[in-house]
Amino acid sequence: MVLDAWSRWSPAGLPTLRWDPEACQERWSRGTSLILEGPPRFDPESLEPLLLPVLDELSTIGEGEAEAISRFAEAWDAGRLTPVALLPGLGSRSEGSRPDTLEISGDLLSFVTYLGLRPALEAYFADVKGHFSPDIWDAGSCPFCGAPPSFGDLGEDGKRWLCCALCGGRWTIGRLRCPFCDNRDAKTLTRLAAEGPEEGYLVEACDVCRGYLKGVDRRVRWNAGSALIEDWGTPHLDLIARRKGYWRATPSLIQLAPLES
Ligand SMILES: [Zn+2]
Ligand SMILES: [Zn+2]
Repeated sequence: MVLDAWSRWSPAGLPTLRWDPEACQERWSRGTSLILEGPPRFDPESLEPLLLPVLDELSTIGEGEAEAISRFAEAWDAGRLTPVALLPGLGSRSEGSRPDTLEISGDLLSFVTYLGLRPALEAYFADVKGHFSPDIWDAGSCPFCGAPPSFGDLGEDGKRWLCCALCGGRWTIGRLRCPFCDNRDAKTLTRLAAEGPEEGYLVEACDVCRGYLKGVDRRVRWNAGSALIEDWGTPHLDLIARRKGYWRATPSLIQLAPLES
């Protein structure tokens, strides 16, 4: 249903960032994601065709969620909650109502953001995406929207690519490095590799900040789907990571489910 809303939606009328390559590369070379200096000015109403189906779907999860979603909708309608306040790469700088005053769990709120804003952000950065080259960016967060990575790809080039589920951005990072806390000590970086029919899937976790990232080794699984499809298709790996006490920085359906014993 969410994917239906995505496919029906058209970015016409929504803003696109139009910076030349030099303007983008100047930010990247300073380690600044583009959103910080070029925040999108989304008209709240124009996002509603994307957001409303997501809110409907999330409010069917349970009573608590339904109440939280109706508080969200109320604040949105009253203009107390702005689109920009939802963006993880920007939220702390925005004015107006902070989402954390709405008594909505962070997990639920981040679902709304990732499912409701992805196509709009993808369209916003579509024009500048081609200006990016991985050698200019050396950080754990997305060079476009500033969000943490949601998935890792070991590419056919042997490089470790990080993927952003919020805007579709991709960038590279060293193999032995935690994208969340920048830990580079191999002794405290854990890699769980799946075996048998699951060979090629992995969980890379950090024993310092306890963050983890799922990924796929595309040299082994050459026919793997997009990062988003592979992420959504492997919730059992999230369960394994979660049972080992690791957390993930971006939403996954498993976060809304109670932890099984
Ligand atoms: Zn991004
Ligand atoms: Zn870490």
